[in-house]
Amino acid sequence: VNSSTVNFWARQGMDRVVLGRECTMEEIRQICQRAQTETEAFIHGGMCVSYSGRCVLSNHLTNRDANRGGCAQSCRWKYHVFPFDGSDVQLSDPNKPFSMSSKDLRGIRQIPAMIEAGVASLKIEGRMKSAYYLATVVSTYRRLIDAVESGQELTESFFHQLEKELDKAENRPTGPGFLEGLPGAEMQLYREHAELVTQEFTALVLSERDENGWIQIQIRNRLDPSQELEIFGPDILPQIIRLEEVMDEDGQKPLILNRPMQVVKARWDGPVQTGAMIRKTMKKQAV
Ligand code: SF4
Repeated sequence: VNSSTVNFWARQGMDRVVLGRECTMEEIRQICQRAQTETEAFIHGGMCVSYSGRCVLSNHLTNRDANRGGCAQSCRWKYHVFPFDGSDVQLSDPNKPFSMSSKDLRGIRQIPAMIEAGVASLKIEGRMKSAYYLATVVSTYRRLIDAVESGQELTESFFHQLEKELDKAENRPTGPGFLEGLPGAEMQLYREHAELVTQEFTALVLSERDENGWIQIQIRNRLDPSQELEIFGPDILPQIIRLEEVMDEDGQKPLILNRPMQVVKARWDGPVQTGAMIRKTMKKQAV
């Protein structure tokens, strides 16, 4: 969280130092100006309710070390609050358990400033996240970085498009974390269990279109072929598609596909790319 520490590690031979999530954008700029090595800044994903690296809740309650990638996210559990004097008078509402969870970080608006400041690497938290989440989030930030590098004008509607795309990843409510200054209660999720609209990863595209128009797909979640779907991939911007036909390995045309990892053939009018993902809209509750 300061340039003296960054430069101490540089003198020990480190090539790159990851800045604390508690740095504001102004602090990141100042650290980068003085740093004698590369810096990496956290831009998207889970935030600690505690100060980075100093929480022992998970170690204490589950014996899993938060500083070695094993955090059980104990701050997100539900708690009841009792007075310190040991009496059993419950201070919290018995019907509304208390949680210390914070909102996730979304730093998309700060990316141009980070690039300008000279941050060498942008860090997205995803160790415990699905491939679908990572594909959605990483490709969205990639689009913005490419736009900055190509000198494209960064309009409000472009940012809005990117934010809508990030909303489609499985996500908790998000905020700017410390990037815009010290966060207040608005960055916390004490009791809030917001209904989020997220989109569920439904199928993975396994092949290009063959001479008869069939594309192999692998089912990942329940798929109703009549439902509106959206495809996206490394070279495909998110686009709505409708399956015209689906055929399973027995040559049947199922009305519902609900066997995970089943490989079937499908036809649709629209873009195709091996490795692209197909998703549908669904409602999900934040935890
Ligand atoms: S329990 Fe919560 S605050 Fe503590 S390290 Fe884990 S995520 Fe961070």
